[in-house]
This record gives sequence, structure tokens and C-alpha cells, in this order.
Amino acid sequence: MVVCAGETSKIDVTVEGAEAAQQEPFLLYVIAPAERSETSAEVVHVLGKVAPECKVRVGDEDVEVYSTGGFARDDIPLEMGTNGVEVVATAPDGKTVTRALTVIRKKRPPPSPPSELKVVEPAQDLAVLPGEVLSIRATGPPGLSGYATGLGQPAKWPLAEVVIDDGQPTGRYTAAVRVGTQAFGLALPVRVCLQEEGAEPLWAESEGKVEVWDPAAVRVGETKGERAGITFGTHRVRLGGPYLAEVPAGTRFEIVGARGPDFRIRLSEALSGWVAKRDVVQLPAGTPPPHNFFTSCHIGGDEEYDKLSIRLKEKVVFAVTSETEPANQLYVDLFNTHHATTWLTHKSGAKVIGPVHCEQMADDWVRLTVPLRCKWIWGYWTETEGNVLSLYVRRPPAIAAAGDSPLKGRLFALEAGHGGRSSGAVGLMGTKEKTVNVHAVNELKKALEERGAKVVLVRPGDSAPSLWERARRANEAQADLYVSVHANATGRANGYLRVSGTSTYYRDEHCRRPAELVYNKLLELGWNEFGVVGNFSYAPLRNTYTPAILIEQAFMSHLADEARLLDPEYQRAQAEAVASALAEFFDSVRE
Ligand SMILES: [Zn+2]
Repeated sequence: MVVCAGETSKIDVTVEGAEAAQQEPFLLYVIAPAERSETSAEVVHVLGKVAPECKVRVGDEDVEVYSTGGFARDDIPLEMGTNGVEVVATAPDGKTVTRALTVIRKKRPPPSPPSELKVVEPAQDLAVLPGEVLSIRATGPPGLSGYATGLGQPAKWPLAEVVIDDGQPTGRYTAAVRVGTQAFGLALPVRVCLQEEGAEPLWAESEGKVEVWDPAAVRVGETKGERAGITFGTHRVRLGGPYLAEVPAGTRFEIVGARGPDFRIRLSEALSGWVAKRDVVQLPAGTPPPHNFFTSCHIGGDEEYDKLSIRLKEKVVFAVTSETEPANQLYVDLFNTHHATTWLTHKSGAKVIGPVHCEQMADDWVRLTVPLRCKWIWGYWTETEGNVLSLYVRRPPAIAAAGDSPLKGRLFALEAGHGGRSSGAVGLMGTKEKTVNVHAVNELKKALEERGAKVVLVRPGDSAPSLWERARRANEAQADLYVSVHANATGRANGYLRVSGTSTYYRDEHCRRPAELVYNKLLELGWNEFGVVGNFSYAPLRNTYTPAILIEQAFMSHLADEARLLDPEYQRAQAEAVASALAEFFDSVRE
């Protein structure tokens, strides 16, 4: 998360005593709030900077001055009207500088009910099939009644008003209609009408247009480009929605709807997904939807990897996921597919893949369960050549014998988050996250190398390769583990000393254990808990063949966290903690 640095305003200083005034005064910056400010909040937070050896009092409390010179006091209560907050800094020689802040607290104006009618939903163009439910939302003057209309139909769909606990009308109206089999192929807005008795009716129409598709027409699409992400929904969440799959060019599916920039696609009777329209070529009318099957599956291996190959009848959406409890295994899910396999060949070249099991999960969804005979899943990837889908599985490396460093000879791909024009979060004292990340990675590199490991920096210096390129560099180097290092941030509305602590992240289940071990070691350094976060969709965590974790060291937006991250001694301790957690982990997965 990126937080913009607030403007640092230099505050004029007053130096007590005529004698002191002759000397160079020291500087006291109050970064926030401004010298005179207005708010409707019940509290104010003060943030400032002074020479680190000074003492600071904000209002009636002494506050800590961190090694950065930063100081803060959160949640100073405000009376209605004018409030004075005095900030006093005292230098070691007893000289003081005072700054008087004026904060005027005003009544929050009550939320005024909307006076104009506006259709909020559908906000984007939609294409739907008969039988689906269309949701309509509007805002307008409260306490009225009315209806919605559209889809080229004369019908009037009644509006319901949302009422809050105390029976107050809110001016938020909803309607829902099950789409019927009429007026296909017209893209029309939804119209909403609200009426008060004796008054002129209010009308408004939706920004998004709704088109009902003829269910008799079959629409088929195919992905273009190297990789298209298929998601479970159209919500826009941080780092994108969770991916159901990322599929190669030429993957086919039936298109069953659209919303704004996305198509809805049918994966099985019970499952649909969403894909960006820009990643799809629509095929000519008359193209049949894909129906895939495969009659055989080969499991073997070469010098380096185990490999499972299947020749697909058609290129359909597939997904690979990992599981570690109760045993290490992979699932290969193939959609728009039926089970026709009478031939699962296992050859002796396979060192890790155990007996593969094929199962029809639903009408058009086949799952291959791929047990892995090793203590840990060391990574995997898929390749498609023509219609042949191959799953490559990495074998365990030879971890040094007990008694020796378990990291000896192991290769780590380290990524210092952000870089170049992307600074990442900016600390309260102006520290750039990318700089802290580079220091952390350089220290970690040293700590790993001291334990006999090898390191490849996928983002050296202030370079800024794409996230894809960072993953590619790790894949090419055949790293044993990818470690991304970031620092966290949150908004400033709740103060400067609120959200603090360390956290680690992983996406796939098999990457959880190293993330947990690193997290536990970081907690031993005295951090607050922010948690081990799974399902995290950062691109290199998705796109590395090797297992991958991410560390959010602490919060740049917390004054104490920022100061600690800038301390070289802390950075050495952090690197030691992470390296020892990784050593512990590698020791535990020796075959
Ligand atoms: Zn970051």
C-alpha cells in the first residue's frame, strides 16, 4: 500500500529569554495538524519532528521522541469550539521552543438525504441470460414509492426502500427482477420512477445498459496473449480477485454473460468464472463450445523433473492447486471435461509423483489427484504445447547432512519490494519503503551467505523490473525459495501510533510453513502481531515455479516501527531471525 507523504511544514520558532534569542534557535516541525485547523472529529492527532536529543511535551503529556526525531500523540480529546494544543520541545541545554496549535471542532453536519433521484445499479453494461436476477439500486428523496422498468418490457417492478433500525426511511431503493425471455439483443438502460402523491413523478435512468442474450445462441471465446486470469467474481480487491486459474493463449470456453470489462464464462454446470474482455477473442457464431476429454495420462520423469502429461481433445480451462494436510498432493482440475481415462501410465522415471487418481467431480469437471512422495512440495509449473498439457514437479534438493548448515548450497531468490519510480509506502518521516527493503534484503543476503547459501537478487539496486520479470529471474535461476521483502502502511486517519507489527504472506498452501516459521522468529524480536496471511495474490507469489513467501517487515505508517526499521542494528537482527527460520525450515524437510 502506498501512502503519500504529508507536506512537512516548518513552524516558526520562538525562543524564550533575550539571551537565548541571540543564539541559533533549534527547529521544531509540526507536520500535522496545521497551525490552525478545523475538524468535526472528536480527537486530533499531532505529528512532528525535532532533533532526537530533545524532549517533547504535547498538551499535558510527555511524548517519546524516536531516533528519527519523530514524535506523535494520538487521540487528544477536543471540546466543541476552539481548542489550544501546545507543543513544547526542550533541548538538552534547557532551551525550549513552543508552538501553539489551534484546532476548532465543529459539529458534523447531519447527513442530508439525497434530493435527486439517481440509479446507482446497474452502473456498468450487463449482458444476462433469461432466468438470471437483475438487481436495481437507486437513491432519491426518502419516504416515496415507485417502480423500475426496462429490458424493453412494459412491466413495472416495485421499489422497496431500505429502512434503518429506528424506522427512518433512507432514500435508498432497491428492485429485483428475474429476467424473462423477451426483447433479446437490445442494450437498454433501466429506468426508475419515484412519486409523491400530487407531485410530478421523478425519473432517472441507469448508466449501465442491460442486454438480454438469446439463450438459443451459443457464444464461444478463446483467450489471446500469454496468460489470462480467470477469477471467481468481478469484484476489484487489492492485488486483484483470487484467481481460479491463469490459462495460456487459445483456451476456449462458452461465454454466458458480461459485466463492464469482463465476460462471464461457463466452466461446469455448477461453476462460472470471469475473464477480462481484452484477453478474449470471440469466435464466429456456429463455433461449438469446448467439450474436452483425454483417454490416457503419462507419469514419468527426466534427469531433472517429474512430469505428468495429458493430451487434451480441446484446450480448456485448468487449474493446479496444492494441499499439504493430511499429505502433500496437487490437484489438476480440468473444466468442460469428462473422464475417459482408461490408461494412467506410471513409469519409473517419476521420483516424486505417486499413483495418480482421476475422478469425475461433476458433469463436466474432472480432477486428477497427484500425490507427492516428499516431505515438502518444492514447486511445480505447467506448460502447454499444442494440446498437450504437462505438469512439471520439482524434486527435493540434497540438503546438507545434519550437523552441517541446512542452507549450504541452497539458492534463494530475494526481492526488495518496489524500486525505480515505485517507492512503495512512504514513512511518516519521509522514508521510502523501497530503500528500507533494499537494506533488509542486503542484510538477509549476508546472513544467508554466512550459512553457506547462495543468493540471487531479482531486483538489484534501484532497478525496477516488472513483477513478471522478477518471477522469471527466480525461475531461471532455479531458486529453492523466493523471498519478497516489503514494509507495510495504513492510512493516517486513526493516528500515527495505532497500527503496528510484522506479518508474512503466502499464496499456496504448501508455502505456509516457511511463512509461519519466519513470522514466529520475527515476533521474537518484539513486534506486535499482524498475522500470517494466506491466499495472498501478489504476482511473484503466483508466478514463481519455486515456493514463495513475502515479508511485510513492519509499518512505515507507525512512528516507532519506521524508526526501528531504519536502525542498522535492528536490520542485522531481522536478517539473522529470517535466516535462522529458513535454516530451521530446510532442516525439517531433509529427506
Ligand atoms: Zn511494499
